[in-house]
Amino acid sequence: MTQKASPQTKLIHSDYQAPDGFAAFPMAIHHASSVLFENVAAMRARNWQDKSAYTYGLHGTPTTFTLEARLAEVEGGQYCVLAPSGLAAIAMVDFAFLKTGDDVLIPDNVYGPNRELGSWLKQSFGITARFYDPLIGERIAECILPNTRLIWIEAPGSISMEVPDVPAICKVAREKNVLTAIDNTWSAGIAFKAFDHGVDISVQALTKYQSGSSDVLMGAVITREKKLSQKIDIAHMRLGLGVGADDAYLVLRSLPTLRLRFDAHDKAARVLANWLKTRPEISKVLHPALPDCPGHGHWKRDFIGAGGLFSVLFDSRFSEEQTDRFVDSLKLFKIGYSWGGVNSLCVPYRMRGMRQDWNEAGQLVRLNIGLEDPMDLIADLEQAFDTLSI
Ligand SMILES: *Cc1c(COP(=O)(O)O)cnc(C)c1O
Repeated sequence: MTQKASPQTKLIHSDYQAPDGFAAFPMAIHHASSVLFENVAAMRARNWQDKSAYTYGLHGTPTTFTLEARLAEVEGGQYCVLAPSGLAAIAMVDFAFLKTGDDVLIPDNVYGPNRELGSWLKQSFGITARFYDPLIGERIAECILPNTRLIWIEAPGSISMEVPDVPAICKVAREKNVLTAIDNTWSAGIAFKAFDHGVDISVQALTKYQSGSSDVLMGAVITREKKLSQKIDIAHMRLGLGVGADDAYLVLRSLPTLRLRFDAHDKAARVLANWLKTRPEISKVLHPALPDCPGHGHWKRDFIGAGGLFSVLFDSRFSEEQTDRFVDSLKLFKIGYSWGGVNSLCVPYRMRGMRQDWNEAGQLVRLNIGLEDPMDLIADLEQAFDTLSI
């Protein structure tokens, strides 16, 4: 057929097939919208929910299936579904498990866009979203209503850093037949084993440590139970939350060094946190491994490491203008959202507008400790502290 075809058709149809037997370390990048079937019967027999084969690019390729399987392994789960951002992964969980008339509980210190999603569900979808004290522990029982379907947890809250009592919340939720979903991004699924502490669903913003280079947006939802994962698959399909093959490849490429990078961030962040603890300008270092941090005892009991992200509270004698000047004076620390990459970042937050119950007087500044030499980062902070007295 192609022998006699016109040159134009030959540009599209070719008889050449690369030889089998190619072996190399990198995963092939499979780009596809259309996935081809042998014949009509094979096409008709194909069920998109069966992940043992391929149906359409949106539902998976060897590249995305491989990334999903590897992420599930990191977290100690069984099933994983990718999403085009961490926030899309959070939304996928809400749409998979909530319907009009349901109630969802969200910690008051949660990642901001998750909070806004909750408020949107309330305004536009007839789902009540209520916010609870992140340190509530087993008293979560008092918040659960007959229509409460899902409890979000974030460990720790990624700005104010309170570490919740995850096992206590999950125990109560399980007794009351309520699902629990954790935003486990801070720990990268390494420092906190969500499923071993009773959580049903773990969400990762792969944008952070799994990508590790501030160049990809992606998220994942991981579970141990098939029936939960099937509901997540349906939300993924209904909402059309596909990820690009090249982005999936970038995350696959970074995964082998995830543990090394995470440990390096952890080690450097503790050096910085302990140094900041000695500074008279700082009233509290909100790093889960230090006693100033609310819920530090839960971290000590349940976690096997810490990430590179923590916050500090300045002494209340410093105004926002002064702490803004401190942030503006930093040279190695850049100003920007997100974290988990090799570059150190810094963001000041206006906590009073964000939280119902914020009582700290001093300004909060969040630091992402990158992979620069910690001594250079200390020198950078030191020169910025000098500007406070000007
Ligand atoms: C960044 C982040 C997200 C969202 O990830 P994106 O890929 O930026 O949408 C969710 N949760 C936490 C805790 C995060 O830090």
